[in-house]
Amino acid sequence: MDTFYHSTRNGDDSVTSKQAILAGIAPDGGLFVSDGLGAEKIDLALVVGQDYHATARLVLGTLLGDFSEGEVGACVAGAYADNFDSAAVTPLSPLGDDWLLELHHGPTCAFKDIALQMLPRLMSVAREGDGRDVMIVTATSGDTGKAALAGFAGVEGTGVTVFYPEGKVSDIQRLQMVTQQGGNVAVCAIRGNFDDSQTEVKRIFSDASLAGRLAAGGTVLSSANSINVGRLVPQVTYYFDAYAQLVRRGAVRQGDAVDFYVPTGNFGDVLAGYYARRLGLPVGRLVVASNTNKVLTDFIETGTYDRRRDFVKTISPSMDILVSSNLERLLYYLSDGDCERVRSHMSDLAERGVYSIDADMHARLRETFGCGFATDEETKGTIRSSWEGGHVLLDPHTAVAKTILDRTPHEGRQRVCLSTASPYKFSADVLAALGGKTAGLDGFACMDGLERLSGTAAPAQLSRLRYAPVIHTDVCGRDEMGSFVERACQRVFA
Ligand SMILES: *Cc1c(COP(=O)(O)O)cnc(C)c1O
Repeated sequence: MDTFYHSTRNGDDSVTSKQAILAGIAPDGGLFVSDGLGAEKIDLALVVGQDYHATARLVLGTLLGDFSEGEVGACVAGAYADNFDSAAVTPLSPLGDDWLLELHHGPTCAFKDIALQMLPRLMSVAREGDGRDVMIVTATSGDTGKAALAGFAGVEGTGVTVFYPEGKVSDIQRLQMVTQQGGNVAVCAIRGNFDDSQTEVKRIFSDASLAGRLAAGGTVLSSANSINVGRLVPQVTYYFDAYAQLVRRGAVRQGDAVDFYVPTGNFGDVLAGYYARRLGLPVGRLVVASNTNKVLTDFIETGTYDRRRDFVKTISPSMDILVSSNLERLLYYLSDGDCERVRSHMSDLAERGVYSIDADMHARLRETFGCGFATDEETKGTIRSSWEGGHVLLDPHTAVAKTILDRTPHEGRQRVCLSTASPYKFSADVLAALGGKTAGLDGFACMDGLERLSGTAAPAQLSRLRYAPVIHTDVCGRDEMGSFVERACQRVFA
């Protein structure tokens, strides 16, 4: 299939998928999209009879046309091996009358591993013949940083630098990052919040004099955040594989439509579901679940995207976001590839903080997407009822989606709730939701408490953090981030 990519804001300059993955974001600030999406369908009969690896090869081969079969095969075999603690990679389990798709069996216990165990491998292939070293620079609010570190650690010709906001990530999240080993990694706490470091990282990417100095040393900067097509494409696989698991369990017949409930922040996870639908997966409804930062609920209900509101810190921090970057790709497809229109909505968003889509686009949006939001209190109630009712332990992000699922009238289709993190990453909030005492306890004491209360075991990669030596102790101000990146490049690529 034609898998040339171009910017959502300009249809002219197309690049190969390898170039799109290396660049991360289009030069005009748009996101890379392919007009061939869905022209060639994925063969469902094939998918239901094969394992996760085979489906991943099929999906990647379809969406990343310039990767050879051998390249795709090697990337898949490396990304989803014994670094996942389930041979199924993303196992499906019962959730009352519905289903839970467990996406947190990777090395960092969050669904971002599915893409970030793959992206470094895709980048290494894309770099071949390029010769330059790539430094990945990432600002994180918690989960992405560790998943990027774990994915890129030790990868030839690449380095990774992560900035996290000092004092604003959970105990466990911080320890996951500051104990990261590997000669090509750098981690630094930032005095400031996530938005400060995110803004500064964007400035670093556009700093021409820094780029010039790095280029002289043979290094380019790139991004591992979820706007990279190399992060989006691997996520399409688990929608197809979940469907295959449902067919094999006899829960649906091949061809029956299935609904997916997705805890949503930057809109990458749920957009992969939309890609799967375009590629022929029988999807009934994709339900976008939000926390109190419910910009997307309002958008899907009214057709107006309005970020002019207060940012609320919640117990599902990876969904605390007011500008969902990947929505831009959906606007492109819903408008039948109208770059002009996408550009105008995005400039309204940047300049005025708000835009509205027309009635036709809104109707198309509502055809596929449902929505809903849950408050922290409701989310805690769901954590408790899921445990007490069925002994299913949910993390706060997953519990947001389960809350929406519970309150949505059944439309007669099987329903799958995507589970995006291990509850043990958020031990304190989960333990508190179950009525356990957390006052004065650190992350590990809460983890122990949750193990005792639930009779389940914390994932080894989290519990062994308590014995892991702290390696990264740097703290810097926002104005020192650029020089931190430059020093990291000199050290890693010396
Ligand atoms: C990143 C994240 C999300 C949100 O996913 P998006 O692709 O940004 O919508 C949800 N839950 C968890 C645990 C995450 O880490």
